Amino acid sequence: MKKLTLVFLLSFSSFAFSDGLPELGDVSQAAINPIQERQIGQQSMMQIRASKQFLGDPEINDYLNRLGNRLIQFSNEPSLDFEFFAVNDYSVNAFALPGGFVGVNAGLILITESESELASVLAHEISHVTQHHLARMVAAQQGDSLASMAAIAVAILAARNNGQASQAAIASVQARAMQKQLDFTRVHEQEADRLGFELLQKADFNTHAMPEFLLRLQRATRLVDGNAPNYLRTHPVTSDRIADIENRVSKQPYRLLPDSLDFELVRTRLIGAQKTSSDAISHFTDALTIHKHGNPIAQQYGLVEALLRGNELDRAKAELTGLLKQAKTTPSAQNNPMLATLTGRVKRAVNDPDTLSFYRTAVQSFPQYRALIYDYVDLLLKSNQAEIAVKLLEEQVSLHATDIMLYDLQARSYNQLDKPLEQHQAQAYSYAWQGNLMAAIQQLELAKQAGGSFYQLSTIESDLRELREMLDARVKK
Ligand SMILES: [Zn+2]
Repeated sequence: MKKLTLVFLLSFSSFAFSDGLPELGDVSQAAINPIQERQIGQQSMMQIRASKQFLGDPEINDYLNRLGNRLIQFSNEPSLDFEFFAVNDYSVNAFALPGGFVGVNAGLILITESESELASVLAHEISHVTQHHLARMVAAQQGDSLASMAAIAVAILAARNNGQASQAAIASVQARAMQKQLDFTRVHEQEADRLGFELLQKADFNTHAMPEFLLRLQRATRLVDGNAPNYLRTHPVTSDRIADIENRVSKQPYRLLPDSLDFELVRTRLIGAQKTSSDAISHFTDALTIHKHGNPIAQQYGLVEALLRGNELDRAKAELTGLLKQAKTTPSAQNNPMLATLTGRVKRAVNDPDTLSFYRTAVQSFPQYRALIYDYVDLLLKSNQAEIAVKLLEEQVSLHATDIMLYDLQARSYNQLDKPLEQHQAQAYSYAWQGNLMAAIQQLELAKQAGGSFYQLSTIESDLRELREMLDARVKK
């Protein structure tokens, strides 16, 4: 059981800035160190994960992380651990929290017309993080604990998202100070554009996508009068800003790059998710037979996914066969983890006898692909093979220490193995990362009652102490 990360997060929870904070206008980073930034981001993420905002589609999140990591390696902080996640909101927005957490609305992913456009948004957000923009704003708000600073970070984002709701959201934050904060925004935007542009260029994307995306958003704004996309509110686009970007881009060659299949598949998932299964079935059937535009593999993927969701299993199986046949002869679709995941789901649904051996091979081909691993572990547990599941989960937890789903699966596995201490401990980690501290404490109490080795019990004691401190810090606010 991985213990380090929970303690690492929580041990900073009662941190207070005893030396006071810099005056507004002092934009030095000295006020918050990188570890504290990470804590603020983690605690903000707990609030976001606990809300309905977190989309929680591992395949979409995985894709965003792969795309983001292509850019980060060229940033001035390549070793910073970023986490990109999709937000269940069909309005157009993206935002960066301190410490490397970047949220992208479903609506923004859908409005992009190329992978380079989506990459340009991520590059801009990554630069907000590496320049510590929000962290500086939060530091200047005189929060006295990381818990309250995390609340401020979320409040600043909420306020910028929705001007009218800002009064309620920032009740604890002085309005005058807030206004000064927002004045920084223009400088921040230009800096994020400049550095984002460099990332985009170094990572070999089409740099022209950056102004194209902003101009299209602006045009869309004019059509829907007075109803600017949130992205334009949180990242105000001025004519200066566009002129700057266009000036940089004009020196660059225009490159028509093919989008990755995953970009198309992710968009297909989001289109499907907006519809009922029967609407999605007709949508993708029409796209394939009548309109014949777009990427046929992605549309066929959408069709199989919708058929599976609508429990039309015979048709799902037949359409999957067609999809895999087509993928075999398309270089960009060979060896694709999203297609493998869908294949496994259809096999499970139709009770294909070689489903288990399919997964055994697939997780070897894609050992990092969590959607596939979740499904495989679930199948192992339903086949009473919890020992194998536990081993696989241990590896994954060491790589992804904040993954709630992994802890839930771990709890199920230990339950099956009749190991109550480990079961409740895993459940506690799941609740803790969801921000439900009370439930996490209850689970650790149950783990303690179950009994275990001296080492296990002392781990639980120290986690309990940290969780209680963190809870106290919240109550005080
Ligand atoms: Zn911005």
